[in-house]
Amino acid sequence: MERLQALRGMADLLPRQTTVWQHVEEKARQHFRRSGVGEIRTPLLEATALFARGIGEATDVVGKEMYSFQDRGQRSCTLRPEGTASVVRAAIQHGLLSQGPQRLWYMGPMFRYERPQAGRQRQFHQVGLELLGLADERSDVDAIAMAWDLLADLGIQGLELQINTLGTPEDRRCYREQLVGWLEQRMHQLDPDSRHRLATNPLRILDSKNKVTQDLLGEAPRLLETLGKESRERFDSVCQLLQALDVPFVLQPRLVRGLDYYTHTAFEITSDQLGAQATVCGGGRYDGLAALLGGPPTAGMGWAMGLERLVLLLGQHGKTTSPHVVVLNRGDTAQVRALVLARQLRQANLHVELDLSGATFARQFKRADRLGGRLAVIIGEQEALAGVVKLKWLHQAPQSGSDLNMGEEWTVPAVDVSGTVQRLLAGEPQAEPTPV
Ligand code: ATP
Ligand code: MG
Repeated sequence: MERLQALRGMADLLPRQTTVWQHVEEKARQHFRRSGVGEIRTPLLEATALFARGIGEATDVVGKEMYSFQDRGQRSCTLRPEGTASVVRAAIQHGLLSQGPQRLWYMGPMFRYERPQAGRQRQFHQVGLELLGLADERSDVDAIAMAWDLLADLGIQGLELQINTLGTPEDRRCYREQLVGWLEQRMHQLDPDSRHRLATNPLRILDSKNKVTQDLLGEAPRLLETLGKESRERFDSVCQLLQALDVPFVLQPRLVRGLDYYTHTAFEITSDQLGAQATVCGGGRYDGLAALLGGPPTAGMGWAMGLERLVLLLGQHGKTTSPHVVVLNRGDTAQVRALVLARQLRQANLHVELDLSGATFARQFKRADRLGGRLAVIIGEQEALAGVVKLKWLHQAPQSGSDLNMGEEWTVPAVDVSGTVQRLLAGEPQAEPTPV
């Protein structure tokens, strides 16, 4: 029979990988906790209209990348391609926007029908931040600094923060007209994709990946030059605040970002170690979004990071943690005792591996060694009948003065094994984490 495989662009994460993921996720949680940001979890499936309206029909995401289908009640549903629209929808739906500024973060899978390659999948994961109801420039910079500090804390190298401003919707409209006028005169030099965008989403042409178009755009009018005074001052202030925080940045006048709802600050953080998929984090201000989704006009600023790309940057393989204790056992009575004892040790908060192989003790010791276990608890038929177990260090030699020296075996009563084991492990200089 034909073997079933995961769908294209949808990855399984195996234990050696999930340890890296857990590390990244935990770091993110720590950073948000320290910054007073609360977690929000929204459904993976939303009404298609949310994204059509919230992201924009003319974007690639809505135009060609969404996983949309009719459910059994004939509603058009879409697997979320990003988090911001859902978070803002939820904030409106639950009246959060009338309760003062909201600082929210989320983490989880997103879905886009794209061509899979390294760092680009159809089911991918984002961690994201949204600040709602904060209009001040300081919130732009606070948000950017949170992303920057998280990436730095993860030890990611070769980072560059690129920023730009899109101004107000009015600034954008003016600029759009100028740009379209300028590009229409150079229509024949544009790549087909950009020509198509000229009618639908002309600002997106600015971040075309086509080399010829890129060269042409070097001469194009710049948004920064058509900005109104207020927008320009606001942007200057953002740049100064970044300097005050010692967050290095470069101005990137062609940075527009894919989604329609951005205003003022737009930014991306790239890494020079990622090849074509260089952007790890993207975000910006989206003051118009809440009203667009039927809520009260509310300022918004946020970002999203791609976890696949972070994990790529951290290297594929993490370490699996080594067990504190491996329970070796052989014989009918011993096997049952071992099962009971392993459970007791786990209840005492220890990381315990129970050998279920029934193999010879020599083999079980080999396996325990491979696992990197610290202490062996050994139960043979003789020990089981006598109500005792034997203890033996597997790896690190204990401190001198320990009850049990390296290479020795120690027979102790089965009833208080867990106390003895905890004492032995706690007496170890490198005991980690200290068993309770
Ligand atoms: P790109 O230009 O790489 O397609 P984007 O502008 O579509 O990115 P955003 O919508 O801003 O991306 O999403 C924020 C981040 O999420 C990206 O910077 C990237 O790290 C990650 N990301 C986006 N799409 C994917 C994907 N298909 N697979 C993996 N990560 C992704
Ligand atoms: Mg994309």
